[in-house]
Amino acid sequence: MHALVFVKQVPDASQVRVNYETGTLIREGVPAILNPFEAHAVEEAVRIREKFGGKVTVISMGPPQATEALKECLSMGADKAYLLSDRAFAGSDTLATSYALYEGARKIIELEGPVDLFFAGKQAIDGDTAQTGPGIATRFEIPLVTYLIKMDELNFEKKYAVATRLTEFGQETLKVPLPAFFTVEESLNELSHAPLPWLIRAAQTKIERLSSENVTLDREQCGLRHSPTKVKKAFTPEKRQRGETLTGSVVELIDKTSEILMPFLKKDL
Ligand SMILES: Cc1cc2nc3c(=O)[nH]c(=O)nc-3n(C[C@H](O)[C@H](O)[C@H](O)COP(=O)(O)OP(=O)(O)OC[C@H]3O[C@@H](n4cnc5c(N)ncnc54)[C@H](O)[C@@H]3O)c2cc1C
Repeated sequence: MHALVFVKQVPDASQVRVNYETGTLIREGVPAILNPFEAHAVEEAVRIREKFGGKVTVISMGPPQATEALKECLSMGADKAYLLSDRAFAGSDTLATSYALYEGARKIIELEGPVDLFFAGKQAIDGDTAQTGPGIATRFEIPLVTYLIKMDELNFEKKYAVATRLTEFGQETLKVPLPAFFTVEESLNELSHAPLPWLIRAAQTKIERLSSENVTLDREQCGLRHSPTKVKKAFTPEKRQRGETLTGSVVELIDKTSEILMPFLKKDL
């Protein structure tokens, strides 16, 4: 079993403030953390390795300080960590990010062998788009299970997984062939404390570097110039006013409601 987990280092959202003059986020002095959903993705992958054997690899695309997030994953039990870092990626939107991570993952498959399970968080707490995981899965042309809340069954001989995901209306359980891609919810598992040997091994494990020197990259798909998303304006939405609470008997409530609605209904007629 080989699991590959995509992990992002994000600014601690609880400490990010908005500069109302420029409409941008004030990131200076804000500590960087491992995106919370990824902790659960790594936890799940490590639990699966403990049950079935195999290995867990993690990859992050970001600046050199993203190694901190990768070290945290190693101390949670991941076996190997890769940092994908290159100036060519600066300004990438989700389309360009998922392309770069896809190429990084292909390189890892070349170096570490085929992957059975791909994991990502359901979304990053800074960008919040939830597009990166699906973007990578689409490029690999493999099944995608978003909002994973339970891995019900795994069979690596017959190459399938049975997994339960959250939907708008409840839950659904799917059987998917492997390899497959999963984006995970926090409720998937409870984080456990890593045993001391894992912490020692993590401290001794070197983080491998990937860049345009060792990953095949089409520069026409990387960086700001090749990112179709344009951020035109960032602002805090106005606070919505509190609703009015109507009181009285049922008849009074019907009267009051029709009085409020009538002007709107007349306009439509
Ligand atoms: C025009 C534009 C320019 C941008 N410029 C920059 C920039 O210069 N520098 C910058 O850091 N960001 C930049 N961003 C933000 C960056 O594109 C997104 O943060 C990134 O694409 C991930 O999207 P997201 O944060 O919405 O993550 P989501 O799609 O919500 O993330 C879902 C999951 O995908 C995985 N994932 C996401 N990103 C990564 C990653 N980098 N490495 C590994 N796994 C990951 C994680 O598992 C995560 O939980 C820019 C965005 C736009 C729109």
